Amino acid sequence: MKMYINGNWTSGTSQIEVVNPYSGKPIDTVPAATVEDVEMAIKSAERGANAMRALSAFDRYEILMRAVVLLNERRQDLGETITNEEGKVISEGLLEVDRCVQTITWSAEEAKRLFGETIPLDAAPGNEMKFGFTVRVPVGIVVAISPFNFPLNLVAHKVGPAIAGGNAVVIKPASDTPLSALKLTEILLDAGLPAEAIQCVTGSGSAIGDALVSNPAVRKVTFTGSQEVGEHITHTAGLKKVTMELGSNSPLIVLPDADIDKVVAATVQSGYSNAGQVCISTQRVIVDKSVYSDFLDALAPSVEALSTGDPMRETVNVGPMVRESDAARVESWIQEAVGAGARLVAGGGRDGAVVRPAILADVDRNMRFSRDELFGPAVGVTPVSGIDEAIEFANDTRFGLSAAIFTENLDNAMRFALEVDSGNLNINGGTQFRADLMPYGGLKDSGMGKEGPRYAVEEMTELKMVIMHRS
Ligand code: NAP
Repeated sequence: MKMYINGNWTSGTSQIEVVNPYSGKPIDTVPAATVEDVEMAIKSAERGANAMRALSAFDRYEILMRAVVLLNERRQDLGETITNEEGKVISEGLLEVDRCVQTITWSAEEAKRLFGETIPLDAAPGNEMKFGFTVRVPVGIVVAISPFNFPLNLVAHKVGPAIAGGNAVVIKPASDTPLSALKLTEILLDAGLPAEAIQCVTGSGSAIGDALVSNPAVRKVTFTGSQEVGEHITHTAGLKKVTMELGSNSPLIVLPDADIDKVVAATVQSGYSNAGQVCISTQRVIVDKSVYSDFLDALAPSVEALSTGDPMRETVNVGPMVRESDAARVESWIQEAVGAGARLVAGGGRDGAVVRPAILADVDRNMRFSRDELFGPAVGVTPVSGIDEAIEFANDTRFGLSAAIFTENLDNAMRFALEVDSGNLNINGGTQFRADLMPYGGLKDSGMGKEGPRYAVEEMTELKMVIMHRS
């Protein structure tokens, strides 16, 4: 596909191959944008931002709702594109399209809710003749940098609110998975978005990222990806608004009174969907000693039963990782943990980019498996004694994006909610839960700022204060 800058679909001077992670074969190419392309895109976006300012809230709502119609019409193609470029199984590819429909619908509705408020200035002494109110205005240009693992819906979480808030947006999709973002760009243009209000620049983040985020015309950078890149962008962006949606190694706590069947179902869903390549994947399962072996005995057969292979086949549960090098990394982390005393209870082998869903028992909290982000189809299980140790271990991480507890005890559930440092706290449900309307974002090294259309629109707009000095 071509990239979209300066109101045109353009080929660029050199190309990047897009590879199907399962077959290892190229499926398409996209341009490798240069720094000059980025500068042209941002210049064009400045004109796009002016065009957006001329639209009413209702115009923006209508454009986004027309995009929803087109997303539904193109559902099958988009789902297959996601699976072909990212490797998730086709049911998850189609689900991502359905979630994108929700994200854009919510964004459209938020276009109608950019409220200000009256401020009672006469409540401050001597201000009887002052009248104040706020108005919310677009920031202007939003740069949206997205990761490979949800190549459509995570782009929608940035583009939808940016448009709802009246901004122009410059998308930089992940180089492994740029096709879904280009197709979303096509849909928004077909839906009537002004030609220069959107740009989709493909190419390596390390080559063009600095030019995108440091440009002073850009007023907001919204990034989803790894902590390392997020930190670099935060330093490079300078004085502009930034939202950082970064990684994690989510804990799931199992207390003695938990319903083990529910825990097993939640661990399988939260640990292995999209081959574990989800920022809120369950990675550290923290189990009270009294139910530790019962839990492992119940979990192992369910994980062994997951079928692996071609993600286009409807019977397959777990497809390939996005790159074979990532699968090799996961394999090596598993071997390292086993070498340090962990027990491999299920899976763990590898065939190319496909890793057999794995369970590691007796994982020690000092192992890399407990400390860093695995981002692969394996969970580590660690025994603890009681709620105090469970909460302490859950918090013994630099991350804080999603956490879960299984218990029937209300006091323990409330302690978990209040004491665990995490953006999302799931009680009797797995860590991998996201409804696209909810506020979503991490604490600590998992990031700053929130997504979810209502919250993202706030972060992509500025509040102005108007004071009328009456006499
Ligand atoms: P990544 O390597 O950090 O890449 C993310 C994006 O940043 C890509 O578009 C990448 O471009 C770009 N990039 C790379 N270097 C850059 C630079 N110097 N300046 C600007 N942009 C640059 O992450 P990933 O491997 O795609 O995604 C996995 C990570 O994302 C995991 O850590 C996961 O937890 C996190 N994630 C977080 C959330 C959340 O909501 N919190 C959701 C999903 C994923 P290239 O592809 O061209 O390198």
